[in-house]
Amino acid sequence: MSSDSSSLQSAAVIQEAVQSLRSGGLVAFPTETVYGLGADAKNPEAIKKVFAAKGRPSNHPLIVHIAAPDKFDQSQVDWVPVLAPWVRDLSEDALKLIHAFWPGPLTLVFKKDKSVPLEATGGQDTVAIRAPAHPLTQELLRKFKGGIVGPSANRFGKVSPTSAADVRYEFEEMLDLMILDGGDCDVGIESTIIDLSRDHPVLLRPGLITPGDILAKTGIKVYLPHEYAVLAGQSETPVVSGSLRAHYAPTTPLRLYASGRVLDALSEFPDIKSRVAVAVWDSDSSLGEDGHPSVHFEEVLVPSDSVSFASKLYRTLRDLDQQGWDLILLPEPPVGEEWDGVRDRLQRACFGSGPSSSSHANN
Ligand code: AMP
Ligand code: MG
Repeated sequence: MSSDSSSLQSAAVIQEAVQSLRSGGLVAFPTETVYGLGADAKNPEAIKKVFAAKGRPSNHPLIVHIAAPDKFDQSQVDWVPVLAPWVRDLSEDALKLIHAFWPGPLTLVFKKDKSVPLEATGGQDTVAIRAPAHPLTQELLRKFKGGIVGPSANRFGKVSPTSAADVRYEFEEMLDLMILDGGDCDVGIESTIIDLSRDHPVLLRPGLITPGDILAKTGIKVYLPHEYAVLAGQSETPVVSGSLRAHYAPTTPLRLYASGRVLDALSEFPDIKSRVAVAVWDSDSSLGEDGHPSVHFEEVLVPSDSVSFASKLYRTLRDLDQQGWDLILLPEPPVGEEWDGVRDRLQRACFGSGPSSSSHANN
């Protein structure tokens, strides 16, 4: 995301996007996480177009994006009237989280107001909301004066887009799709999701903002799904409905390798002799392997800090996928909650990868 991106888009372009949303059309928009495919969150027919364009099953709920009030000091913002059209109860904890992290890459799940269409929530009584930080989209939301549903602007199950060009590539044949160009996404992976509709906050999807960050900034303890299940005496752990083992998947087979174990990962693919891309931490000088008699590796450097890695993750997967490798190997992320968001995306990307990735993704 470039900081002056909003000034690069003329007011006329934003106005055209607002008109398109008001008339039930789709507009792709930048956020600090990934690009979204937007529609008016209170227009069921427009929401249905989002599901159709993505090929997303209609029971997978969407996130509603809202404008952060235009105040210099966010701690002074009164969020209660902003959330009133969407949310039934706004707890003290919710307000603390909002003041600490909005606008930003944190999505909160609430009991929904009755005016929120079930099309946006996958038929559920809860709604997921966030205020994205990207200045261009903040301007769009303020001018639109409503909420915009925005799942990632990619075909269902595929790698999420982190540039306007990625969105164009995903929806090549939708020639009339309006795409607001806000540059490359900074965060690079989807928002952290916390469910506030239960008796305790539960982490539904890891992201840049971790439970540790939340505890440090607000004193609120966020439970991991398995911790919550124990607390609530449930045998089932809550999952983000619609979260799948296979997702974010490239067409090229993708595997993770444990430190120093490239050859083990390769042994799963005995027929592959060449065209193997192996990502290596930029803090390591090289693979440290003695090589392999018959397989030719090509090394690709990846950042060894979690924030930079996340920022480049989907870019790297897309680029490698388009370079025609037979196999992509990435290093297993280190242990630690700052890596949980990346680990989650990589595990799903591996599971869904390969030539039949679209059929996996629909399982
Ligand atoms: P995406 O739009 O692809 O980033 O996905 C949105 C994520 O938010 C999905 O994983 C949804 O399942 C999750 N989500 C949206 N609304 C809700 C909700 N009401 N309850 C639980 N998860 C939700
Ligand atoms: Mg997505």
